[in-house]
Amino acid sequence: MKNNEKNKQLLAITVLWFRRDFRLTNNPAFNIASSQAGRVLPIYIENSDPNMIWRPGGASRWWCHHSLQSLSDKLKERGMNLKYFRGDPGKLIPAIMRESGADTICWNRLYEPNELMLEEKIEEQLTEISVHKFDSQLLFTPGTVLNQQQQPYRVFTPFWRKARVKLDVEGVDLSVNKRRKKINGYNKKLKEECRLDELALLDKNNWHIKLNQYWVPGENAALKIARRFKRHHISGYEIQRDIPSVHGTSKLSAHLHFGEITASQLIYSLLMQSWPSSAAASVERFITELGWREFSQHTLWHFPFTTNRAMNERFINFWPKKPKQKLLKAWQTGNTGVPIIDAGMRELWQTGWMHNRVRMIVASFLTKNLGIHWLHGARWFWNTLVDADLASNTLGWQWVAGCGVDAAPYYRIFNPYTQVSKFDKELKYIKSWLPEYNETDFTPIVDVKKSRDAALELYKIKNGRR
Ligand SMILES: Cc1cc2nc3c(=O)[nH]c(=O)nc-3n(C[C@H](O)[C@H](O)[C@H](O)COP(=O)(O)OP(=O)(O)OC[C@H]3O[C@@H](n4cnc5c(N)ncnc54)[C@H](O)[C@@H]3O)c2cc1C
Repeated sequence: MKNNEKNKQLLAITVLWFRRDFRLTNNPAFNIASSQAGRVLPIYIENSDPNMIWRPGGASRWWCHHSLQSLSDKLKERGMNLKYFRGDPGKLIPAIMRESGADTICWNRLYEPNELMLEEKIEEQLTEISVHKFDSQLLFTPGTVLNQQQQPYRVFTPFWRKARVKLDVEGVDLSVNKRRKKINGYNKKLKEECRLDELALLDKNNWHIKLNQYWVPGENAALKIARRFKRHHISGYEIQRDIPSVHGTSKLSAHLHFGEITASQLIYSLLMQSWPSSAAASVERFITELGWREFSQHTLWHFPFTTNRAMNERFINFWPKKPKQKLLKAWQTGNTGVPIIDAGMRELWQTGWMHNRVRMIVASFLTKNLGIHWLHGARWFWNTLVDADLASNTLGWQWVAGCGVDAAPYYRIFNPYTQVSKFDKELKYIKSWLPEYNETDFTPIVDVKKSRDAALELYKIKNGRR
């Protein structure tokens, strides 16, 4: 190679756009960017579009802030400075490419409707640039798991049956570009760059300090939790996963949402080991739950309108447009007088997370017993969950409300008292979140039986009218 050609390569700049893929392991965009000969310019852009409908809520932004800090530290160890920007990525990326003189950009794809539009807008403007995009956030690229008629699946079981057979994790690349420990970083200051705290991810009133007690965002923590879960908890997952008072699930949802670890990594590490027959069903069950995550993302990709509208059109005008504020407030603050509901809503408020079984119970109570539109619940979860995820949240709410893909039938209404007798018999979970619990002092804001009957009656009337 001629000298000036070699020099040109060494001076070349590759932009590495981090989105929600805050990890170095199993990150193809990072691996490709860091194997280029020249310098690497890692960037993160906080989208400040005021019209964004599902702008991440406070708990999720708290996680994002700390996860970025952790990513930045890891990049620094390898010689790179993560640069932060706030604004419209559609305008900022072309500007960053021009100002830095970069001729290559790498990123891992996201599949939510606004992210897909954004990618399209950016690519249209990068005609002279070499763009490398990767599908690493999911097990399969949305649109590639279809039924015999080449249509999307609307039921989980056949979707997963098809996907599970195709699942081949042997090729998972767990390397962290070990060939180059130090990477040549681009260190000049750029016009629009700002500091991490200027992204304004943390609310000023510091309510989020409490979350530090429960979570450590970042790739190192994700890997540690995954290892611990595999060692101590997975063999009992099948049974323990439904008991909210025990540590029976992985609590990896926010780590997965922010791409600090991938589903492929988790599955790879499980399947590369042989398990005793007593644990095999639990391992498979955990993999199936990751399948639900996959299903929710594929469903959102096929049906982007479902973030705001029921999948089943029978339910589009089913719930009143305006909720009864008093009831909604009581539900949000954990003051419904129904112990399992109040315990769940307080766990959510305190920790930014809620056990899956309890998510189903509180969602059923809101949409059926209180007769409030699922979107009000989805928005509350969106603002309060550290793992708030547009695809999983939409699917979860529509599933419980009875109006989504593979939904529980509307008339299957969770009885919050029966649920306690099955999953929190000794009231350990309730008492841990409601220390003041005393059976006689709890008067529900609605009569659970009557409100259930009213919900069923409404269903009959609405369906009868069609
Ligand atoms: C009304 C409602 C709203 C929900 N909102 C969200 C949300 O915003 N973000 C979110 O990540 N999950 C959501 N879920 C799904 C589920 O409750 C959480 O993923 C789970 O509780 C996270 O805990 P974990 O990591 O310990 O799960 P584990 O049991 O350890 O499962 C491992 C992983 O599988 C995935 N997973 C498990 N169950 C589901 C499911 N039912 N749907 C989709 N993925 C699943 C998650 O990524 C999870 O981290 C919602 C469920 C309901 C009923």
